[in-house]
Parts: sequence; structure tokens; C-alpha cells
Amino acid sequence: MDDGALSFVNELLGIINEQGDMRLIVEKFLAALRREFVYDNVAAYLQDDRTGSLEIFYARAIGRAKTAEADAAWGENIALQVFAKMKPLVQSPDAGSETEDRVRQPYLLGLPLRADGVVNGALVFVRFGGPAYEENHIAAATLGAELLSILFERRAWRRMNEELGALKQQLQLQDDFVSTVSHELRTPLGFIKGYSTSLLREDTSWDPETQKEFLTIIDEEADRLSLLIENVLESARLQSKTLPLRFQPLRLDAVVRDVTARIRSRYKDLDVTLDLQSSTPIQADGVRIAQVFENLYTNAVKYAPGSPVFVGLKQIGRSLVVTFTDHGPGIPPESLPLIFERFYRLRTEKATGTGLGLYICKQIIEAHRGKIWAESNTNQGTTFFIQLPINQVPRT
Ligand code: ADP
Repeated sequence: MDDGALSFVNELLGIINEQGDMRLIVEKFLAALRREFVYDNVAAYLQDDRTGSLEIFYARAIGRAKTAEADAAWGENIALQVFAKMKPLVQSPDAGSETEDRVRQPYLLGLPLRADGVVNGALVFVRFGGPAYEENHIAAATLGAELLSILFERRAWRRMNEELGALKQQLQLQDDFVSTVSHELRTPLGFIKGYSTSLLREDTSWDPETQKEFLTIIDEEADRLSLLIENVLESARLQSKTLPLRFQPLRLDAVVRDVTARIRSRYKDLDVTLDLQSSTPIQADGVRIAQVFENLYTNAVKYAPGSPVFVGLKQIGRSLVVTFTDHGPGIPPESLPLIFERFYRLRTEKATGTGLGLYICKQIIEAHRGKIWAESNTNQGTTFFIQLPINQVPRT
């Protein structure tokens, strides 16, 4: 190989080793290839993982007939044949089709693209009006196709790796969830069993006050149990988008006030400040939105114990924004993007929970075409934001 050829191969290798946007790399690569192998148009077709059919990945017209740029139909036929026969193909215009119009005299060259030795696509070149492909041209184009195959294969590996990573994380969360749920189910069940067994003991008589105390515990623990089961079911239904929502005109300020009254009677010591603009009614499911607010309150109680809570409501543009702010320990920045994921809990968390609350909130808000997110400073507190559009089209 002479020095020129060597530095050309090195240049192509350098391009496929570049990091960044795949299409830009492919574009740069094919432009560089064109210095040794002249063509008018090029198109790369790759097999779609799901459908199995060939899809156009990249098409470009460089030389004559630039108008054909957006349309890669010219290469489809030969791409399919290369794919089916798994070998390079050359097609010259019919001998009888002598015409002045070069665009109607395509010289096509189709080369297989491979992943792991298996043909998974085709790279097609066209020269309008010739010249016909000579052996050394085909050799240069084949080198191009082989190097592009490496690039595509690497992309497929990278994607697979990412999917595997996501899957692994999901499995880990499911694993944690099974142990959390079984622990969470056992705790209230243990109380219910313990206190009811005590009450049923024939050798002991309990005074009415103690009986009432035991029954109250049983009652509360049964509530906790049914809430947990409800949450697990609900998160499954929300994930599969089968939870029906009842949209009606709703005043968010009224919902915040209602929920706040309930929360105040449940947590007598909680210091809540409201700053609510009276708001335009929006189409929303009142029960579900109340559930979101209640969840944010109980999280503040659980994770920012003793902190005052500030709830605001403002109209910003065509959206209503509700904020819940506490001055608790906050959430570390690395956990912040994860807290809305199903089953996610901070590893250090001592308070009870399943990691489903914020996931459920997010699903509900998104079903209203809204957004929910949190901002937090460690040791200063956390603010949850809920943004709901005023003229949203409800999900059907
Ligand atoms: P759960 O409360 O069942 O653990 P959530 O989905 O409601 O599940 O919350 C996920 C995690 O986010 C919690 O385990 C907690 O670590 C963190 N978190 C939620 N709200 C707050 C808050 N106001 N302050 C600090 N951490 C919070």
C-alpha cells in the first residue's frame, strides 16, 4: 500500500473513531470517501430491530442531480437485493435506454453492511451517466462499507449497553421494592396480629381504655395496610395508563385549601403558610390532584420533620404553578432526578415509605399534561413545583 492510500485509510479510521452525533460522523466519512471514490448520491439503509425491514438511515446527494437529495427511493431496490443476496451488486443502465438525461442513466453500486458477520443493511452509491464502476473503485467503496459497518455496529452495542443498564437499574428497583413491600406489609400486619391476639386472650381482661387503645392501633394499621396495597395497585394502573381520570372544571386554590384543612387536622403541630392567588378553573380530576397535594404534605411531614411548610399558587403565563416548600434536610443533587422514579427511595431514609408516592404524583400530573419537579439545597430545604396548563386537552 502506498503512503497516500495508507494515510487515506488512517483518515477514514480516525473519522469512525470520533465521538459525537452519528449522522455527522457518517456525513464526514462519506465526504472523505468521495475523494477516492467518486459518486453522485449515497444512501445507507439499516435493518430496523423491531420490524426487520430496511429503513433509510442516511441519504445525501453530493454531485449531479442534487434535487434527489431528500428522496432515497432510487437506491431502495438495489438495497433490498443486496440485503437479500448478501453480496455486492452493480447495476448499469439498460443498453437500450440511451438518453441525453444523465439522471435517467443511473450506475448503481450496492454493498452489504454487516454486524457480527450478518448482513444488516446496505450502502448504495449512484453515478448518473457513469462512468461504470471499475475494480479499484469497487475496492475503495467496499473498504468504506466495511468501516461504516464497524461504526454502526459500535452504535448498536452502545445502545444495547444503555438498555441493559436501564434494565439492570429497573431490576434493582424491583428487588428493593419486593423487600420494601414485604417489610411494609409485615409491620402493620404484625401490629394487627399482636394487638388482636392480646385482646382475644381469655386469661387476661383489659380495661375499656386499653381495649380502645389497642383497637385504635389495629384500626390505624389496617388503614396503613390498605393504603399501601392501594398505592401498589394504583402505580401499576398508572403505569399501564388504565387509571380512569374524571376531568371537571376545578379551582386549584380551593383544592389546596381543602387538603390543607385535612392535613392541619391530622398534623396539629404542622406550621403551614398559604399564599394562593385565586385561580382560573382548569379541567382536572379533583380527587387525583388532591392526592398529589396530600402526598407532598405528608412527604414534608415525613422528610422535613418540624419544618414549616409554605404552599404557593400563581398563574404564570397560561399555566398555574403550585409550590410546596419545606426547610428540611433537602435532597442531594444526585438523587434529585431519581425521586420521581417508581420505587426510588434515598438509601439513608429511616421514615417508612415505598418509593411510590412521587411516582404516582408524576403520573397524575403528566396525565393532566402538566409537569412536576423539585429543587433542593442540602440543609436548606426542598421545593416541589407543579405546573398545570390552563387550556389543556385532557387525556382520553
Ligand atoms: P416514599 O415517601 O414512599 O419513600 P416518595 O416517592 O414519596 O416515596 O419519595 C421518594 C423519596 O424522595 C423519599 O424516600 C425521600 O427520600 C425523598 N423525599 C421526598 N420528599 C422529600 C422532602 N420533602 N424532603 C426530603 N426528601 C424527600
